Formats: sequence, C-alpha cells, structure tokens
Amino acid sequence: MALYRVEGIVLKTRELGEADKIVTLYCRDQGKVRAVARGSRRPRNRLSSGTQLFTYGEFLLSEGKNLDAISQAEIRESFRGLREDLARMAYASYVMELTGEMVEAKEPNEPLFLLLLGVLHLLGEDDPGNHETIVRFFELKLLTLLGYRPHLRNCVSCSNPEVSFFSPALGGMVCRRCREQVPGATEVVKVAPGTVQAMRKLDESRFHGARAVKPGATINREMEFVTRTYITYLLEKPLKSWAFLDMVRAN
Ligand SMILES: [Zn+2]
Repeated sequence: MALYRVEGIVLKTRELGEADKIVTLYCRDQGKVRAVARGSRRPRNRLSSGTQLFTYGEFLLSEGKNLDAISQAEIRESFRGLREDLARMAYASYVMELTGEMVEAKEPNEPLFLLLLGVLHLLGEDDPGNHETIVRFFELKLLTLLGYRPHLRNCVSCSNPEVSFFSPALGGMVCRRCREQVPGATEVVKVAPGTVQAMRKLDESRFHGARAVKPGATINREMEFVTRTYITYLLEKPLKSWAFLDMVRAN
C-alpha cells in the first residue's frame, strides 16, 4: 500500500463507527484531503491527540481503495488554546468550516494554507477584541485567493465611485442607479460608507497590518452581514458555525 506524507491542519472531524474518525485535512501541498483515523476515539490511542480539530501537524497516510487512512500523526502545534476558550473556539470553528466548504478536494493553495495557519495563531494568542477584525480579514483574503475577491473600489457595473449597495450576484459594490437594473436587484445589501471604507482597508492590508484597522462594533457587524450574504450566495447555503458564533457572542 502506498504511503505519503502531508503537512496539514485538521479542518473537520466526524465520528465513524465505534472508535474511528473521518478527518478532513487542509494540506500545504495537496489541499483538502479526507482520511480515516482508525481507533482514534479510544483513549490513549496514538492518533487521538494528533487528529483533534485545529491541530497542525505532519501526517503519514496510506492509500486506501475508497478512503485513505492516517497511520501516523505528529503534532507541530496543537492550538490547545482554541479548544479551551469558547469564543476562540467559535471563531476558529467558523474559519475551519468556511475553508472546508469553499475549497474543492485536492486543489492545493499554499497561500491559503499559510493564511489559515496564521489566523489560527492570531485567534489563539491575540487580544479577543481583535478577533472580529481578524475574521473579517480572513474572509476577504480567502475569497480573494479563491477567485471571488469582492469588487469594492467603485460600482462593479458602471464604475461610479458613489456606491451604497453590495450585490452578491455581481460580487461587488453597485451604485444607486445600477441597483435598479442589475439582475438579482432584490438581493442587494445596503452598505454604509464607513463599512465600505473599512472593507477596502482590510482588503488592501497585509497580514499583521489588518489589526491596525479598528472598525468598531457596528461597522464590523455590517461587514459581517455583507460577507455572510456573499458566502451564502456562493455556497447556496448558510454555514452551520454561524449559529454557534452568534450564540457565544450573545452571552
Ligand atoms: Zn453603477
């Protein structure tokens, strides 16, 4: 049986049978890979800690007929802090679900892998007050890296610099005049000028510069509404982790 080694992050786990787990990894060189971790739900199993959600490590996989199997997991970073704090866990779970849903299997994207790893570090270590902005930054960069960069500079339809709506169908801002004419005009989201400004700043930021953009709670909520609407349009469904995130934030 052919063996191969990957460097990856545990994006998702699902129970299988009595003691096994199906693990979805996001790998530096291979993109999204699914594999079974046999026995990993038994206490003291050698795969149990290395196959927990958020773990970054090196994995040895063996090719299977239907599903590959993880035969070794060597932890590089367990991101334990993300599992011990409910708010950090909620943000990180969303980041994982968004990545897992937006990427196709076995389509490598190293910049996205590095972005994901960097964001997990920030969510684990940075001040909780920065988490919203970090996640907004992640959404914009992920969309960009996958070819869905939202057009924010001016009206995506006529280049008018005065924009006040976001159209998920057109993937960008539109002006008042075009709003009436574009298909799916009913699905546009009204966006305040301060929100567009903050999105542009984040869109132009590099990794550590993003924390210097301090949009404030109201603008953050509006940015979130815009990205959720856009992501729901792209995936044709909402994400499950949104409900968890909303519940944690409400408390
Ligand atoms: Zn226009």
